[in-house]
Amino acid sequence: MNDQIEDENTTSFRFEKSQLPELDRVVHLVEKAKKFAAIDILETIQFRKSNFPIFSLRFGPDDPRLPCLALFGGVHGLERIGSQTIVSFLESFVARLEWDEDLLESLKTVRLLSIPIVNPAGMYMGRRSNHHGVDLMRNAPIEAEGPTPFLIGGHRITSRIPYYRGKKNEPMELESQAVINFCEKEILPASCSIALDVHSGFGMRDRLWYPYAKSTRQFERIAEVQSLTSLLKRSYPNHIYVVEPQSQHYLTHGDLWDYIYEKHQKNPDWNKNLFLPLTLEMGSWLWLKKNPMQILSGSLAVFHPIAGHRQKRIFRRHIALFEFLWRASKYYSAGKLI
Ligand SMILES: [Zn+2]
Repeated sequence: MNDQIEDENTTSFRFEKSQLPELDRVVHLVEKAKKFAAIDILETIQFRKSNFPIFSLRFGPDDPRLPCLALFGGVHGLERIGSQTIVSFLESFVARLEWDEDLLESLKTVRLLSIPIVNPAGMYMGRRSNHHGVDLMRNAPIEAEGPTPFLIGGHRITSRIPYYRGKKNEPMELESQAVINFCEKEILPASCSIALDVHSGFGMRDRLWYPYAKSTRQFERIAEVQSLTSLLKRSYPNHIYVVEPQSQHYLTHGDLWDYIYEKHQKNPDWNKNLFLPLTLEMGSWLWLKKNPMQILSGSLAVFHPIAGHRQKRIFRRHIALFEFLWRASKYYSAGKLI
């Protein structure tokens, strides 16, 4: 992607067509969304003489104290379906804002935020890591409080092996820092914020993970997680999600959300607020079970459904969850979710 032309007056984002269809789709989305949303380029990743912008969108007022849902996708470049699912949801959201006055009215009191592709250069390369070989979800200066699975839990051996954390005491990667800065500015000051980071590739079920990744100790905001889970069950009795702590499966070093949560806890003002970092881990083994030949089409296949009808089904599958979390973030008061 070359020759970004940014017109300050019209906030127009025009690019030459990139070799990354997901990024082209985000550019198309922000062009349509700018009527309703604040659009930013948080960082531009330079790789092989090309520029890969990291876009953010914010629907709703410029007041970070207001409740919000924030959707993050494409932290791992291989997991394209997460970004596609978020973009598909936001495209519908923008289309509805054109005519649905009630939806527009809702945005006065609850914001919707997103970084649809956190790691565009990694996605362009078809890699889990970024272009430096660093796994952004192992990149934060956080040490696990127990044994981690060999390599998978994060390592500092070499960037040529997946799950590489980066060098010790080096600054975090630009993509990681962009997410942290965005959260500090837009999300952590909110009375109630839910961050949903969308991944794929683990297991047969769709899982909603809450902290910690670094430790098996109980998450301080477990009461809020339980009331949110109960609210989800009451609102959607047939929902498909397994809600559990990430540490139930394995511990990792360097989890970005553990790090941002720690930052949230350290600030006395933010501590009055609720910040729930959740991960949606889409169970891609189910796609392989239905289409085992997919595994022969390369490593991407393990993380991404190839069949078009299956992709569409996944886009539809999570719309209710995104809506629910967005609405629920508004109904947190007096220390509990209703
Ligand atoms: Zn992932």
